Amino acid sequence: MKIKTIKDKNYKGKKVFLRVDYNVPIEKGVIVDDTRIKATIPTIEYLLSQSASLIIASHLGRPKGKVVDEFSLKPVGERLSKILNKEVKFVSDCIGDEVKNMVNSLKEGEILLLENLRFHPEEEEGDEDFAKGLASLADCYVNDAFGTCHREHASIYTITKFTKDVAAGFLIEKEVSALLKLLLNPEKPFLLILGGAKVSDKIAMIKNLLDKVDTIITGGVMAYTFIKAKNWEVGDSKVDQEAVGLAKEIIKEINKRHLEFHTPLDHVIVQKVSEDAVPIITERGTVPHGWIGVDIGPQAIEEYTDCIRRAKTIFWNGPMGIYEIEKFARGTIEIAKAIGNSNAYSVIGGGDSIAAVNKAQVSDKISHICTGGGASLEFLEKGTLPGIEVLKEE
Ligand code: ADP
Ligand code: MG
Repeated sequence: MKIKTIKDKNYKGKKVFLRVDYNVPIEKGVIVDDTRIKATIPTIEYLLSQSASLIIASHLGRPKGKVVDEFSLKPVGERLSKILNKEVKFVSDCIGDEVKNMVNSLKEGEILLLENLRFHPEEEEGDEDFAKGLASLADCYVNDAFGTCHREHASIYTITKFTKDVAAGFLIEKEVSALLKLLLNPEKPFLLILGGAKVSDKIAMIKNLLDKVDTIITGGVMAYTFIKAKNWEVGDSKVDQEAVGLAKEIIKEINKRHLEFHTPLDHVIVQKVSEDAVPIITERGTVPHGWIGVDIGPQAIEEYTDCIRRAKTIFWNGPMGIYEIEKFARGTIEIAKAIGNSNAYSVIGGGDSIAAVNKAQVSDKISHICTGGGASLEFLEKGTLPGIEVLKEE
């Protein structure tokens, strides 16, 4: 896969429409994590060094096609300005006459941030007229919104029909090359670590990876869904009922290919999920009636750590337990540490998985941390994304 990148082009004196993913967490008007803003700085600085002027567009939250003040990008513009140490102009819409006027008076090397694209329902509908309007603001289009590339939205997908000059920014380039490394030539053994809660969203991705991975280890609701699929006892543990059928199919495929597949050898179990619950450890890989599995047990940690030690390539998505509660966080933290200590090429995706890696203080020892959880999983499932396809070299 060869995508067009900003390195191949000349932006001197051009107006660039730059789509980014500034969907950052904001609490009481304060940005609590600006990772996604920082991730776009190399692209912004490069374009500015080329004497382009930038029209930056993003979505924030789910305003559902209406103007919702709490989802305004204004504070994001202020933070961007602080990070760049440079003025960032702001306009309170993303389309229309006021925007056009601001764009027309934008000079070389200046930045204008548009208001939340999703204040217009046309954005998520992928509307052609809306996309045409966005495209008409600039001479060229650059996409660096990796986390939104799985959506056929107007500013990600449709807009490329109306701009001749399209390219990917450095963030997309980095994300795609990390994920392609897993899909195309992973060094063996390739270990897939799956946990977390959103099983239905994720389980399809496993199918596409079965021909590439050697070992799969599971934790969290993912593990209980597979244990249930094996017709073993899970007690009152959380299971994704919708995914049990597919989990059964996947177990068959795993057996056909003679892959190494693990559900936890033991579990940390409680009778009620709460901070003051008194957990005990099971003696085997099942959960007795009336009990809830909340973390992998010590034997499982030992076995999984050994799998991690042997691996040359690792992809991890999903915590091993309810890691938000300290007592149930050990499995997740130990797995994160083991990945940090390994020399394997390691990629981590998913908001909670990244939070766990930060909590274990090993994020700088991970080869690549994906900024888009959903987008990275869909990329691994399909080998591409709608927003990436439109950036490909013909
Ligand atoms: P990610 O954000 O990394 O993609 P998910 O969102 O799918 O991961 O899953 C994370 C959530 O899974 C966490 O909130 C965690 O508490 C929950 N979880 C993990 N193990 C269990 C479990 N055994 N029972 C219930 N919830 C669990
Ligand atoms: Mg999550």
